[in-house]
Amino acid sequence: MNKTPTFYIKTNRVFNKFKRISWTLVPLIAFGGLFYPRLGLLLIPIMLSLVTLGFFKGKYWCGNLCPHGSLFDSIILQFSPNSSIPKLFKSKTLKVLFFIWYMSMFTSRLIKVSALWGTMTFIDKLGFVFAVNYLIPTTVGTILALFVNPRSWCSFCPMGTMEQLAYKLGKIAGLNGKTDQKVSVAAIEQCHKCGKCSRVCPMQLKPYLNFSGNNQFENENCIRCSTCVANCPAGILSLANTEQALSIKASTNNSGFEKRRKITALLV
Ligand code: SF4
Ligand code: SF4
Repeated sequence: MNKTPTFYIKTNRVFNKFKRISWTLVPLIAFGGLFYPRLGLLLIPIMLSLVTLGFFKGKYWCGNLCPHGSLFDSIILQFSPNSSIPKLFKSKTLKVLFFIWYMSMFTSRLIKVSALWGTMTFIDKLGFVFAVNYLIPTTVGTILALFVNPRSWCSFCPMGTMEQLAYKLGKIAGLNGKTDQKVSVAAIEQCHKCGKCSRVCPMQLKPYLNFSGNNQFENENCIRCSTCVANCPAGILSLANTEQALSIKASTNNSGFEKRRKITALLV
């Protein structure tokens, strides 16, 4: 089954304390950096954090900490039509090509600036490269958010792709089993198949149709934002690592759900 919802629901996103205010870093770095280039250097700890978190927790950064994600979810969401994210934006080809283009452009600028190493202007020029690169998600992401969907940009964001690559590495190394918390369902039998988790999902994913044998949603594009968890009417979703998911599965009482059946009704 691979049904695409016919509409999406604009709902409040889940915020932690940092995500509530992290959007302020966007104007500070992207625009402030044009006048005071050293502000662009803030991107160095940001990039290091997202790659490290990516290794251990997949795209957790995108859903819980990212300044652009915070801007899209807290400010732009209310003005956005929240329409369906075009298939092209979600395609692997676009993601790969855009990543290659973005990183080559970024690297070539870094190489040019590295020639200034040891001079008085090096730090300023380096900061400027970062700030200018930060303007791309700010402008393109905001336009897409205002006219298509708040998280359109996040479907092919090169930083998200970097997180995903780090996550793959973490999985291959077998070092993120305990830290990797995915959307998990207490019991698949208790899911109403109402699709609300998909309708509210900022990335427009379909957890309810794709739970694995461990009762987990394994999609690497999931940004672990908890919006589906907070909105599931059955209250059966949570973020959990595999060990926790299996323990929830084992301890969930399923009595009354074994003989469930579909009833067709006409609403008048
Ligand atoms: S919102 Fe909850 S009950 Fe509805 S389809 Fe998703 S997991 Fe199932
Ligand atoms: S599946 Fe749930 S946690 Fe993952 S991105 Fe969608 S709403 Fe967020």
